[in-house]
Amino acid sequence: IDSSSQDNAIRGTNDDAVTSKLSAVNTGYIQDKYVRYFVRRPSKRPPIINRGTYVRNTGLDILITKFLEGGGENVKKQVVSFGAGSDTRYFNFKATSRKFYKYFEIDYPEVTSKKVAIIQKHKDLSDLIGNEIQIGKGGTEIYAPDYCLISGDLREWEENIVSHLEEHHGFDRSIPTLFLSECVLIYMDPIDSNKIVQWAGDNMIAAIFIVYEQILPNDAFGSVMLQNLRSRNIELRGIHAYPDLQSQKDRYLSRGWTHVEAVDINEVHDNYIDPNEISRISKLEFLDELEEWRLLASHYCIAWVVRNYSSMSLNKSIY
Ligand code: SAM
Repeated sequence: IDSSSQDNAIRGTNDDAVTSKLSAVNTGYIQDKYVRYFVRRPSKRPPIINRGTYVRNTGLDILITKFLEGGGENVKKQVVSFGAGSDTRYFNFKATSRKFYKYFEIDYPEVTSKKVAIIQKHKDLSDLIGNEIQIGKGGTEIYAPDYCLISGDLREWEENIVSHLEEHHGFDRSIPTLFLSECVLIYMDPIDSNKIVQWAGDNMIAAIFIVYEQILPNDAFGSVMLQNLRSRNIELRGIHAYPDLQSQKDRYLSRGWTHVEAVDINEVHDNYIDPNEISRISKLEFLDELEEWRLLASHYCIAWVVRNYSSMSLNKSIY
């Protein structure tokens, strides 16, 4: 597999993610007015995938909201979303009047240019960013007071990206920062992704790093999932390095972070999400493959690590 076709395949995973999200929106799992702008060919996903998308999205939102609310609305905070793809969180947060000092999104230029075009086309998106919106770097970047979309290769995080963010876009190492990687680090060689983990562990005063990704690649079910990805030219080297919850935790503990939690999606489903919500989504469509759902959910995890941010509770049960 040559590296450029691999990079193309990796960029393509964003289309998959956002198509699944729209399916979950259209079936009533998730509310999001903006996802549809990012999908050209909507496609309905099976109930277990919709449920997975719901739990992934809701689990991450619970943690992200906790971070944004920590210490009160007036504390300056920034978000850095690695490989943000077509993520609409910024717009959803702005629509509910949530404030942040700055929300940074980074992805390859091939991906960010599409996002810029979609934002320019839909006034309800650009209105949420506000009047002071500037487009840069040949239509691949956006600079605004609280939003910054940057194009680049995360493998050059330290050399090119973070210095650029700091010098030109107000990235501030001294304020509480949330780093978000939703299905992104897993597509990078661990040598590259761990440089980011280590950088964030070494250079921030107060930070949280939230990661959602696949685990258990080596059992029967995990190997089938891997084969599916390989058939689309995606070589998942990272997945071999962090096969389970403990190795996910060790990855951070050995790179400058001190407090870590890692739970699989079954646990998020059972212990972190409001039971009323679970009963609401259970009525949306019939899920007869309960065992398959449990198996699928055991192959994904959310891990979060915290540094000097005490209002980010690590309690097991948020509800
Ligand atoms: N985080 C989004 C979400 O969950 O909806 C998108 C996830 S998608 C599976 C992975 C994203 O990571 C893609 O948009 C891809 O282009 C981006 N990505 C992967 N490796 C990258 C790299 N080295 N530099 C920049 N972006 C990268």
